[in-house]
Amino acid sequence: MIIVMMQGASKEQLAEVKKRIRELGYKPHVIHGETRNVIGAVGDERGKSVLQSLESMPGVENVVPILKPYKLASREVKPEPSVVEIAPGLQVGGDKMVVMAGPCSVESEEQILETAHAVKQSGATVLRGGAFKPRTSPYSFQGMEEEGLKLLALAREATGLPIITEVVNPRDVELVARYADIMQVGARNVQNFALLKMLGQLDKPVLLKRGMATTIQEFLMSAEYILAEGNRRVMLCERGIRTFETATRNTLDISAVPVLKGQTHLPVIIDPSHATGHAHLVPSMSYAAVAAGCDGLIVEVHPHPEKAASDGPQSLRPAEFAAMMKKLAEFAKVAGKSL
Ligand code: PEP
Ligand code: MN
Repeated sequence: MIIVMMQGASKEQLAEVKKRIRELGYKPHVIHGETRNVIGAVGDERGKSVLQSLESMPGVENVVPILKPYKLASREVKPEPSVVEIAPGLQVGGDKMVVMAGPCSVESEEQILETAHAVKQSGATVLRGGAFKPRTSPYSFQGMEEEGLKLLALAREATGLPIITEVVNPRDVELVARYADIMQVGARNVQNFALLKMLGQLDKPVLLKRGMATTIQEFLMSAEYILAEGNRRVMLCERGIRTFETATRNTLDISAVPVLKGQTHLPVIIDPSHATGHAHLVPSMSYAAVAAGCDGLIVEVHPHPEKAASDGPQSLRPAEFAAMMKKLAEFAKVAGKSL
């Protein structure tokens, strides 16, 4: 249910309503709007009609059901887009596009430092790099684990770029959170609800990737798992879905951008690297993503793709990334944003 407070309702009235929501067995989530506050009351759907009684409390304008199965992620609860702060002064979801770039996997100090300096030089504002890798084959490189996290932290120190890295297993959440600025949930873990719940309890932004066979509704329900635990800093990432097409690694669902934008207030990021699987397709898909209205990109860049431990064929060389960023700035301008 959405409890819409009156314009000018007092703090005390808001606190009373929150208290009553808890007494009724629901969890209140306050969304501070420009003119008024609303409270999303979430919990067991079956007995939610008891919340209707809140309508008679002082300061309450009305109580309306949330029609979508996802609640806190929906535009019904929060019509304005969410702006997620990912580092002091760095926001996602506003007028400025964010570009996260770096290798698929952290491989060595030299590799991550060289990449970090190069992507920063070209205008990226977040460094990506996998330390725990969810590989399709158990015999493929699984990542440098904590050693990789340490190298990412070193690169952050050297460049000032905040770092995004994937957490694969719930038991590693605490370890990864000690190093990461943004926690990445990979496509293969989009419905790992134990992991999502743990991330919901963290005070860290989360980038949630869409699974390869996840509908938009399922994707938003996964985001809801994180939001329902209290973490509001959730970003969604479309990274290509599985279709019958084999010319590309996945099929980039560009229409997911405006569809998601219509249904949720959460920022939407596009990953053109995993979506296509081929470096030469990454620039055009990045421009298309910006034109479709995304809030940012996450792109794989490697100084020597031919030697990469993972995802070399889809990784841009630093010079290719630099050229793409120049052109991207033009597309961003047309889309009413800046890089
Ligand atoms: C990655 O970002 O390197 C990755 C494994 O992505 P995805 O989970 O989208 O496959
Ligand atoms: Mn990768």
